[in-house]
Amino acid sequence: MSQSKKRATALALYPEDTREAAALLKQAVPLMVRHNIAPNPVHYALWYTYSKGQEPELNRHLDRVVRDFDYFPPESAAKLFRDYIIREELEDARIGQQQAISLVDGMERDVSHHVEGNLNFQASLGHCLEMLDEPIDERLPGILSELQQSTQLMQDQQALFLSQLHAAQSEIKNLRDKLERAQLAATLDGLTQVFNRDTFTRLLEQALSNAPQTVALVMLDIDHFKQFNDQYGHPLGDRVLQHVGQVLRDSLPPHATAARYGGEEFCVILKQCTDLASAHAFAEQLRLKIQSLRIKARKADKVLDTITASFGVALFEAGDTLESLVTRADDALYQAKRNGRNRVHR
Ligand code: GH3
Ligand code: MG
Ligand code: MG
Repeated sequence: MSQSKKRATALALYPEDTREAAALLKQAVPLMVRHNIAPNPVHYALWYTYSKGQEPELNRHLDRVVRDFDYFPPESAAKLFRDYIIREELEDARIGQQQAISLVDGMERDVSHHVEGNLNFQASLGHCLEMLDEPIDERLPGILSELQQSTQLMQDQQALFLSQLHAAQSEIKNLRDKLERAQLAATLDGLTQVFNRDTFTRLLEQALSNAPQTVALVMLDIDHFKQFNDQYGHPLGDRVLQHVGQVLRDSLPPHATAARYGGEEFCVILKQCTDLASAHAFAEQLRLKIQSLRIKARKADKVLDTITASFGVALFEAGDTLESLVTRADDALYQAKRNGRNRVHR
């Protein structure tokens, strides 16, 4: 990414000029009030950036969130905060840690090398002392044993340093592992644990540039989900989304990836798929699995209404772009809805 295209980092978000900052907050706060957004630092940062208007993509996301939800789901806020406000810093931290690891590794090699040299030196001093049965100069044994003692001291200090270095090394490696886990989490949708939309787009772009002729797309949308939410409430609606995510994760053939495309819409990218009929058959399996989900409200025996979803399937065709492929799958999904829902169309 070129310097000029770099995203604003968290600190760069807040201008030095307090008047400018106050003016932005004056725009952000009424927006938050209007959309019933809780006043917490993450939300402030998001709506402040929204008011700055320097991240059009973020603004589109926020517009979509307030349009599609009656409330601001915490996982959406956390994800947007990660993606638009602290992503650069996460990346910088990863590079910084890698450099620290190399540095400590290098130091450890140097110190180990010195310790080894020291041990050899100390051994040869001991050897000299043994050989001096009849000293040429009577002061020589004293000088040599003094030398031996100070070498021992040096060696102890180096051993201590070395153990401190080892501790630092494992600390940094722990941090790196944590960061890697955080980076993986940033590619996933927090609620359903399938990939998020950004990652979906990146993976589909990749698949289309590697072997476009073998890419098929399955899009699905839960039927009458608004009604479900209205009847049972959002928390149970969230559980339905989690179950659907689980069905997708458990059903993926090799070389396939599942993602949450939007609110209650999901996508599966099938790679190494060259015929529409097999993509259709896969979607049909998913449809049956979703239809047979039995979800109970906690502390209640009653099974909730059957969940169904409608599916659209499309296979790459010559001249397709990412957008045209997605549009074809979406059109097929629309047909499935029009023809009565709980069905697959292609
Ligand atoms: P259709 O069969 O035509 O798809 O009808 P629908 O009601 O499923 O579609 P509509 O687009 O009217 O409503 C989608 C609903 O999905 C509205 C929104 O509240 C709900 N939704 C979107 N994301 C979430 C979420 O993360 N959690 C919950 N609980 N509901 C969500
Ligand atoms: Mg929908
Ligand atoms: Mg729906």
